Formats: sequence, structure tokens, C-alpha cells
Amino acid sequence: MNFQLSTQPLSSLSCEALIVPVFEDTPLAGPSLEADHRLAGEIQRLIRKGLVHGGPNEAVPLFPPDDLGLPRVIVIGLGKETDCNPDRCREAAGTACRRAHDLGATSIALPPFLPSHGKESSEHYVQATVEGAILGLYEFNQHRTSIAEHPPVESLKLLLSAGLQRPSHSSAARTGEILARATNLARDWVNEPANQMTPQILAGAALHQAEQFGLQAQVLGRKEMETEGMGALLGVTRGSSEPPALIILEHGRGAGQPLVFIGKGITFDSGGISLKPALDMQQMKSDMAGAAAVIAAMTAIAQLDLPVHAVGLAPACENLPSGSSYKPSDLLKALNGKTIEVVSTDAEGRLILADALSYASRYRPAAVVDVATLTAACVTALGQDVAAGIFSNNEPLLAKLRAAGELAGEKLWPLPLYEEYREKIKSSVADVRNSAGRLTGVGTSAAFLREFTSYPWAHMDIAGMALRETANGFIPKGASGFGVRTLVEFARAWGGPA
Ligand code: MG
Ligand code: ZN
Repeated sequence: MNFQLSTQPLSSLSCEALIVPVFEDTPLAGPSLEADHRLAGEIQRLIRKGLVHGGPNEAVPLFPPDDLGLPRVIVIGLGKETDCNPDRCREAAGTACRRAHDLGATSIALPPFLPSHGKESSEHYVQATVEGAILGLYEFNQHRTSIAEHPPVESLKLLLSAGLQRPSHSSAARTGEILARATNLARDWVNEPANQMTPQILAGAALHQAEQFGLQAQVLGRKEMETEGMGALLGVTRGSSEPPALIILEHGRGAGQPLVFIGKGITFDSGGISLKPALDMQQMKSDMAGAAAVIAAMTAIAQLDLPVHAVGLAPACENLPSGSSYKPSDLLKALNGKTIEVVSTDAEGRLILADALSYASRYRPAAVVDVATLTAACVTALGQDVAAGIFSNNEPLLAKLRAAGELAGEKLWPLPLYEEYREKIKSSVADVRNSAGRLTGVGTSAAFLREFTSYPWAHMDIAGMALRETANGFIPKGASGFGVRTLVEFARAWGGPA
């Protein structure tokens, strides 16, 4: 899909669908009023008759006469103008564009969704409108041989009226496009069936992106992992015949101490010998959503050419049962020399992250953020499709990540790293054990990871967020791409050591 900025006046525009935002409590203004003039007052008439209210995400399609050059108009509600924020605009833009697509439009035009006295700068609203539109139009049809129900949208235009034609607005729109496309890239990777997204395929996709956008890239294989002594990752991969990979991407080398992002890349998690129940096991193709988020975020950081040094690490392998699998009671030795007693082979994410967190220390990082679909306990705590859990050993870092999440429209709720969790992962045979049972699941998983850190660090548990059960305006069912935009907003705002 082609995305363009357009300075064409609304009075002469022709496209298959025009989106017109309306507020619940304020009269039409700006581009919405212009659109109403073009439609001979039809929108105001519908408002007067009570057929258009402007409530949040209320989408009313109009079908103007043929000679107008606008076969479809979607009037989209933004709610009360005083409550308007970028996230509401993102959701409304997604809802409206999807409705236009469902009505068969292949070219869509929309103005930025802007309140007259916004809580945020107009640039934030421009960015959010573009993000919502591109995110909302996402579909995963790669493996369907039958013709899609509706033709794909080929052209999306953001209409910048005279008052908005400033370089800062063009650049905000471009940022929105990059962030949305990177999120959609992560969605593609997570939606791919597990045999189409093996560790090697993920590594290949990362190398391809790196080449396209000028990231330095390297992939460590089994041999290099053995030489390094990544016994935890090697333990997890042992039951699978797919070779593992540690994907390493780097941007801005030389720009000081780096931010290191680490993403869990289990391309299929059966639980291993501690086998999961069969029901819904297919969803475990999404256990690499952290890796997808980190790799996609790195591509956006490169495209935006952010003035930061950033490193992305994605340890990737499968977790399968076989005669060579690691098993409960096994002893593993991580890269930092710590010994681990395996209690559950289904607590594999923290094992591959242990080696990646240890590996990160060689960069002398300013901060490390890992993103992982780690525990069902986190979903129980915060709810499916609601919020990710976040843990940190550093308050300022935690605050910066939460602020970035807020900008991105991704909720991160802080959870504690109490000393009691550390007590529960003590082992009678090794330095730590990888599970302490069900009842302290989320706290002990983070306490385990902390054992492998030696720098300001935060851990995002995105288990309830990676694969949506319910759609909203800009997130379809299936892979959400959660985390990409938070990581990039965090890197954009990074202003020094945490
Ligand atoms: Mg598992
Ligand atoms: Zn897992």
C-alpha cells in the first residue's frame, strides 16, 4: 500500500473513500466542515436528525451521488473534544479505514484527527492518525489461495490542509508511517505458522531487513553458542532438529553506551518434556513475539536514523520433546557461569533470555530492556488484551518505558521484584532453579532474569498482549505487534543514562 501526504484541497479531491472525523460535543470545523460543504450540508443534517452522534468509534457510511467523485464517505466519531487524545485518534482512524476497506474502497483519504486545543502537540495527533490508519488496514493473507473478500487498499492519503503544511507535520506523518509499518512487519512474523517461521527463517528475515535499512547484523549459530558457553539456550534447543540462532542487530555504533533490546524468540513452544495441554497449543507459534518486536523496532530505529546507539538481540529456537530434549532435573550452565536446575522445561523463555542477558553485558549497556511472552501468570494478573507487566531494577528506566508506552498506546503495568521471589527460586543443587511452581509465577520469572543482569534493566512480559483474542480499532484479531512502538518511542526519547 502506497502512503502519501497530499496538499490537495478537499473541494477538488476525488478518491474512493473520504474519512470525516466529528466530535460529539463541538460543531464541525476545519476539514470536516469543508467536507460537509462539499456534501451540501448532509453531515450537519444527519447530526441534527440524531443519526450521527460523534461518539467514540461510531462509524457512519454515506454514499453521495456519483457526480461528486466521492463514492464513499465515512463519518467517524472521536467522542468529546475535551477528552480527545492521540490514542483515541489512532483507534478512530483504524476503525474508519477498516470500514472503508470493508465497503470495497481501494483508495482512502483522511485529514489528521485534531482537537482544537489538544492535550498533546499537533505532531502527536498527526503521527497517531497515520499509525491508526496503517495499523487498522493490516491483514494477513499470505497463505490464502482463494481471492480475498475485499480488494486490498492500494493508496492512503493524509490530507494536510494549508494550516498544517509544516515540516514538523510531514515528519510526524513519516514517523507514524515507519512505526506502523514496523509494527505490521512484527505482526506478519508472529502470524506466520510455526513451520513458516523457524529460527533460521526469522534470522533470514532479520538479515534481509538489516541490509535494506543499514543495520549491522550478525547471526550466531550452534557452534558459536558452544564456543561462548551459552548452556541455557543450548539446553532448550536440544530437542529440536531446527538449528538455533542468536540474531544480533546494531545501529549507531560509536554513539555512546548502547540501549540493548532483547526479544524472546521461541518459534514454537510445546513446553518440551513438560508438555503443554493440546488445547490451543497452536497459539504457541506466537512465543517469538518478543523477538519480532525487537527486530522490527530496530528496523524503525534505523529508518528514523535515531541519534542513539542501539543493539537488538533475539535468541531463537524451538522447544520440543524428543529423545535428545533437556528434561526436568537437568543442570544447565549459563553464559555468565551461573548454574540452573531445570524444574520445568516449559519455563524455557527465561533460559534463553538468561544467556542473552549475560551476552548483553559485553556492550556495557546504558540500559537493557527485554520483551517476552513469558508467563501465563502475567495474563492472569493483568488480563488478556489489557496490559503487559513490567519489572525493573531501576526506577527512572521504568518511568521512561511507561511514558513511551503511553505515547505508543501500549499499557505497561509495574510489578514488584520482592526479595521473597528470589528465595523461591533457590535450588538445592544449583545456583537457581527455573521454576517455583504456579503460585508465584510472574514474580519468580522476573527474579530469575535479574540473576543474569548487571546493569539498569527492565523486563516486559507481553504474554497477554502478543496475540489478540478481540479486535479493536487498529488491532485486528491475531498478532498485535505489541512492543514495537513502545521500544521505538523509548529510544526516541532517550536522553542519557537511566
Ligand atoms: Mg514455555
Ligand atoms: Zn515460552
